[in-house]
Amino acid sequence: MQSKEPADLLIAPRWLLPIAPAPDTFERHGVVVDRGRIVGVGALADLEARFEPRERVLRPDHVLMPGFVNAHTRASMMLLRGLPVQGPLMRWWRETVAPAELRWVNPDFVREGTQLAIAEMLRAGITAFGESYLFPDEAARAAAAARVRAVIGLPVQDAENSSNPHSVTQLARAERLWDDYKSNPWVSLYFAPPPSYAISDAALTHVRSVADEIDARIAMPVHETEVEVRDTLSQHGRRPLQRLADLGLLRPGFTAVHMNRLDPADLELAHETGIAVVACPQSDLRLGSGWTPVARLQERGVPVGLGSDSPVTAGALDVLAEARLAAQLASARQGIEARPLSAYDALRAATLGGAIALGLGATCGSIEVGKSADLVCIDLGSLACQPVVSVAEAVLFSATRQNVSDVWVAGRAAVAQGRLLAFDEQEQRHLLQQWAARIRMTG
Ligand SMILES: [Zn+2]
Repeated sequence: MQSKEPADLLIAPRWLLPIAPAPDTFERHGVVVDRGRIVGVGALADLEARFEPRERVLRPDHVLMPGFVNAHTRASMMLLRGLPVQGPLMRWWRETVAPAELRWVNPDFVREGTQLAIAEMLRAGITAFGESYLFPDEAARAAAAARVRAVIGLPVQDAENSSNPHSVTQLARAERLWDDYKSNPWVSLYFAPPPSYAISDAALTHVRSVADEIDARIAMPVHETEVEVRDTLSQHGRRPLQRLADLGLLRPGFTAVHMNRLDPADLELAHETGIAVVACPQSDLRLGSGWTPVARLQERGVPVGLGSDSPVTAGALDVLAEARLAAQLASARQGIEARPLSAYDALRAATLGGAIALGLGATCGSIEVGKSADLVCIDLGSLACQPVVSVAEAVLFSATRQNVSDVWVAGRAAVAQGRLLAFDEQEQRHLLQQWAARIRMTG
């Protein structure tokens, strides 16, 4: 008899929702993990016959699926949760956010705020995130220490256009950070220009050529607000997406964040150029910015991920809630936006779509042999989630982040049976209270 292959872990859930290669749900199936990678996906009987796992995790009321990806956030802003939120975006940012940032945001704020946000995200089943905020080196440090996957944006802009001195990162400095994280297993970097109206053609062209040289991704807000579209039209005679296309920025390594207020030509351009899109439904709806036609983009083959954007506006770092709202909005739309988003497609956006938008499509986002074991178990055993007819619908519409029971990042348990292992919860609470008291006291 042939001896079995040793492996670290076998997870046997009630249901398996691998997201790719096909939109199927399986029962009596499991996943085998070894040295952080998925080495077996299939019927439990076959896996038991082939592998000798050192540990077995049985989850008889649960669905096992890929970890959620928060494809656009400003993680450490969770310390500013509670700031009044009132759109439109630009006025709110200028009058409310910018003064708070000038007062509070420093390297400690970003490092400790990012750490707290990572704890919140892990507890919500989020195993990778795309960051776009100040002091990217501190966010990168926090993510690497916590051993979660982070794709950190390097802010680049015309110095003379910046209202906030923190946000001016010289390209040279960005390149230095690039060298520091070139071979880091947890952190990768991308260039993060500001919205189109706030950056010159020359600066965008320069960013593009540097990105091409080192094979870096670019992600930036595109069609976030009506004002952005209008101002770009009047300054450049073209809509923002068309302007970026004319400057040669649109390619598969480009991610357009937001993409509200699209017209048919924008959809066609997104499809033709092979870009990815990130929708931030909770935040954009709260600020009155609009919403992204997720299903329309998916229909054209455009990969769409989901992001919370700032936790101040979204309220929570909760990709499952973003997916639910995206599906609900898809049914509320009219005209170009009218196309329902199935529960499966919404969950695909919350996982694989986000991974692709961050350049991690080959690493995570689905349960497939060879990918990193970035996994989440969701408990559907409670009455609130029963009866389960469609697993994808039960996850999307009945479960919440509170039902996340187990989370693995690269095969390492970060949450087990509802308990956060990656951090000391007591210490985290203390840290958050300190920041809250400081900000409140002088706020
Ligand atoms: Zn944003």
